[in-house]
Amino acid sequence: MTEKPTDRLTPVPEKHSKFWQNAHLYFDRVYTQMNLDPVWRAFLSAPKRVLTVSCPVRMDDGSIQVFTGYRAQHNNARGPFKGGIRYDMHVNRDEVMALAMLQTWKNALVDLPYGGAKGGIVCDPKKLSSGEKERLTRRYTAEIMPIIGPVQDIPAPDAGTDAQVMAWFLDTYSMMVGYQALGVVTGKPVSIGGSVGREEATGRGVMNVLRKFLATQNKQIAGTRVAIQGFGNVGYHTARLLHERGAIVVAISERASGVFDERGIDVLAAGAYYKENGSLADFNDADAISNDELLGCDCDVLIPAAMENTIDADIAPHVRARVVCEAANGPTTPAADEILRDNGVTVLPDILANAGGVTVSYFEWVQGLDNFFWDAKRVQDELQRVMEKSFDAVNGKADEADCDYRTAAYTIAISRVAEALRLKGLFP
Ligand code: NAD
Repeated sequence: MTEKPTDRLTPVPEKHSKFWQNAHLYFDRVYTQMNLDPVWRAFLSAPKRVLTVSCPVRMDDGSIQVFTGYRAQHNNARGPFKGGIRYDMHVNRDEVMALAMLQTWKNALVDLPYGGAKGGIVCDPKKLSSGEKERLTRRYTAEIMPIIGPVQDIPAPDAGTDAQVMAWFLDTYSMMVGYQALGVVTGKPVSIGGSVGREEATGRGVMNVLRKFLATQNKQIAGTRVAIQGFGNVGYHTARLLHERGAIVVAISERASGVFDERGIDVLAAGAYYKENGSLADFNDADAISNDELLGCDCDVLIPAAMENTIDADIAPHVRARVVCEAANGPTTPAADEILRDNGVTVLPDILANAGGVTVSYFEWVQGLDNFFWDAKRVQDELQRVMEKSFDAVNGKADEADCDYRTAAYTIAISRVAEALRLKGLFP
């Protein structure tokens, strides 16, 4: 049978994960309302490039284990690709593609000269020894080397990775190119070219955005009752910075356990306890609380700071907070988003609320390229300026278009990316 030409041109529909579909739904909804050239919709719906790599690693017992890794580059119309690297058992191709897309919108919303990317390795970082994690990181870096670089694609930490992982990343890349390439990765330790304030930056940005939003309601952080899901880098620093400003952190949780105390949790003590025990179980006689109970607990502000899809249509009707501030990427499904909106809950969307991390990553990149390093005050002041300006833009757009904050944020971000595409035109 002869093949018709159209058969070769018709793409085979791929079955994608729920999270991928959710990310596309948020994008599609806004794009179609914006009266933009439909041509760019298809282009922006797919990543520019996704690399899948296989990483054989010698384990401590002498055996060899093969790990799968990814780097998805969504769009670079506004500048080099930029986005974190995640180590988690649930990492998959759809997840990194969806997160890379979110990163494009986030970087555009806070007006950084970057496109969006994301990477990850399917592994349980808690089960790897330090040596195994180092060998895995070095092999993964070498495998994705053809598509990364200080002016091409600049990774950073995400869930399951930290400054030490970025140090190995920097060293591997630098050894291979033959010079110290500070700009290849951000979130490095301060002693080897990292930026002061990067580690806490995502949490600080969450605090900045929440403070600005509360001010629009004539409220302040002091006395606000907050529940935070996820107590890693983002959850801990968000809790600490809000606690320092007088918020009452009534509930915190990690993957397997959580605690609730209506009088307020001692966040620093909880942080030390979690670091030592790897769990919050039995912390300070506070009441145990499950993750689902935390999401529905009695509080003013709910801050999901763990993983995607944790607030779904089953949980959303039980959310008692009046504000959901998305510190994690993609924590609220579109169905849950609608339920929250109908129930009068304000959602501060991820691409705004958690953009502090990539913003200070940008500062770190600039400092590394300049070889001129800033002090903590300058980093904090510049971060606050970017976050407050971005909040004002989203708040203004929401008022003008009479829409929710997520729609407003997407509208601003998509229009900036679409503008860059239009101005650059097609190659060749
Ligand atoms: P992390 O690995 O440091 O911490 C994750 C925390 O969430 C841990 O306490 C873990 O136990 C908990 N957790 C994991 N799965 C959970 C679940 N299903 N339910 C409840 N808790 C769960 O990660 P992180 O860097 O703090 O990142 C958290 C989120 O913030 C992710 O969505 C990440 O993409 C996003 N984010 C991180 C950064 C950054 O700079 N690290 C920047 C922007 C956004």
